[in-house]
Amino acid sequence: MKIIILGAGLTGLSCAYHLKRKIKKNNNFSFGLYEKEDDAGGLCRSEISRNFIFDYTGHLLHLKSDYAKNLVKNLLKKNLEKIKRNAWIYSKETYTPYPYQANIYGLPIKVVKECVEGFLKTGYCLSGSSYNFQPDTYRSFYDWIINTFGEGFARHFMVPYNKKIWTVHPKEMTCEWMGKFVPLPKIREVLTGAFMPQGKTFGYNSYFYYPQKGGIQVLADALSGKVQSNLFLGKKIKEICLSKKIVEFTDGQQLKYDCLVSTLPLKEMILKIIKKVPYQVKEKAKVLKCNSVLNINLGINRSNISDKHWIYFPEKEFIFYRAGFPMNFSSSMTPPGTSSIYTEIAYRKRGNTSGFSGKMIDGKKLTNRVVKDLIKARVLKKKDAILNTKILNIKNAYVIYDRKHKESTKVIHKFLQENKIYSIGRYGGWKYSTMEDAILEGREIANNLCS
Ligand SMILES: Cc1cc2nc3c(=O)[nH]c(=O)nc-3n(C[C@H](O)[C@H](O)[C@H](O)COP(=O)(O)OP(=O)(O)OC[C@H]3O[C@@H](n4cnc5c(N)ncnc54)[C@H](O)[C@@H]3O)c2cc1C
Repeated sequence: MKIIILGAGLTGLSCAYHLKRKIKKNNNFSFGLYEKEDDAGGLCRSEISRNFIFDYTGHLLHLKSDYAKNLVKNLLKKNLEKIKRNAWIYSKETYTPYPYQANIYGLPIKVVKECVEGFLKTGYCLSGSSYNFQPDTYRSFYDWIINTFGEGFARHFMVPYNKKIWTVHPKEMTCEWMGKFVPLPKIREVLTGAFMPQGKTFGYNSYFYYPQKGGIQVLADALSGKVQSNLFLGKKIKEICLSKKIVEFTDGQQLKYDCLVSTLPLKEMILKIIKKVPYQVKEKAKVLKCNSVLNINLGINRSNISDKHWIYFPEKEFIFYRAGFPMNFSSSMTPPGTSSIYTEIAYRKRGNTSGFSGKMIDGKKLTNRVVKDLIKARVLKKKDAILNTKILNIKNAYVIYDRKHKESTKVIHKFLQENKIYSIGRYGGWKYSTMEDAILEGREIANNLCS
C-alpha cells in the first residue's frame, strides 16, 4: 500500500508522524509527504524579519484533548508556556473584556440599556434552562444571535463584528461551525456582566499554550524533524489522474499511489488539480466560499505598548477586525526595547461586507491606514516609529458556512473517498478548525489507513 500525503501543514505532518509510527510495525505500507513550499508547516509557520518573529496572525495552541496536549509537550519539551488569555474588545471608545456578551459593563449606559432590554425579550431569557441551543434548528446564524442575545447585542457587536470577519452577513450563514467558537454565558452571567465587572473567563480559549522561543513554527519543525526521510519539499502538485492513480508535480515527476491523503484546499483540488471530475461535483465545488485575511505585522520602537494579548474591533472605522501583540505571547518574538503588533483584515472578491476589498491591497497605503487606526484606538502614540512591516496574505483563511456548504462538501467528499482520496484538515475538509483539530485528524486518518 503506497500512501501519498499532499501538503505538509500541521494536518499532513501529523498524518505522516502517526503513519511512521504505525508503519514501523507493518512492512506492507510506504508513504511520502509532499509540500510545495521550501518549509513545512503551512499556516503554522513563522517569518523572521530583522529579529522580529511574526506568525501568520495569532497562532495559539488551544489544547483540550489529553492526547494532543501530551504530544505537543513531548515534542516541545520545556519550550512551551501555559498562558491565561487577556483578550479585549474596543468599541464606543471603550475597552471591555472578551467576550462582549458577558462584559458590557463600562460601555455607554445607552448601549448597556439596549443590550439588556433586547436580551430580556430573547427565547433564551424567556425559556431559561429549557432553551434550545441546537445550532441546526436555527435558519441562520443571525436568527441564533437574535434568539439568544437579542437586538441590542446584535446591533452593537455580533452583527458588525461577524460581518467584518466573515465578509458575509450572519443572515447568510448557518450555525454549523459555531460549536466551541462562540461562548455562551448563563443568563445570570450576561446580566452580571452588564452591571458590574464579571471577574470570570469564558470560552474554549481562556487558557492557551505557546512556545517560549521561536514562534509557532517550532511545533511544525518538531513534527517535520520526525518524518524527515519521508518529507519532500518544493514539490507542487499539478495534476491528479484518478483512473491511473497518478500524481504529477510541476517539475514533471509522476508518482503512483494506492491511497491519497490531501490537505490542499478542497475547491482548488476539484476545480484545478483532479482531471475529469464529474459535472455535478464540479458545480458543488464552484459554490464553496472562504474569505482571505491580510495580515499586516508591525515592529515598534517602544517596549510594552500593550499588556493585552489581542483586541477585537467590531466598528467599521477600524480596518482590521482584530489586532494582537506577539511579544505578550513570548518575549522572544521581539528584539529588546521593542514591541510588535499583528493586525487582521478580512476580504473577499465578491459580495464583501468587511468594508475592505482585496483590490485595495497596497502595502504602503494600508500600513499607513493600520497605523492611523491603531493611534485612534490608543494602542500606538503619534511619536512611535515603525521599525518593521511584514505583510502576509492568507488566501484561504475562514471557510464560510453558507446554506450550500453542508450539501456541497458532503457530495465532494463522497466522490473523493470513492476514489481513495481522503481530503482532510482545515482546507481539505473545508471547515473551521484549529491546530489541535489538525493534529487529531492527521492521527485519525493514519490509524484508519493502517487498521
Ligand atoms: C487567520 C487565522 C488564524 C488562526 N489562528 C489559530 C489559532 O490561534 N489557533 C489554532 O489552533 N488555529 C488557528 N488557525 C487555524 C490553523 O491555522 C489551522 O487549523 C491549521 O494550521 C491547518 O493546518 P492544515 O495542515 O490543515 O492546513 P495548511 O496549514 O493550510 O496546510 C496545507 C499545506 O498544503 C500545501 N499546499 C497547498 N497547495 C499545494 C500544492 N498544489 N502542492 C503541494 N502542497 C500544497 C500548503 O503550502 C500547506 O503547507 C488560524 C487560521 C487562520 C486562517
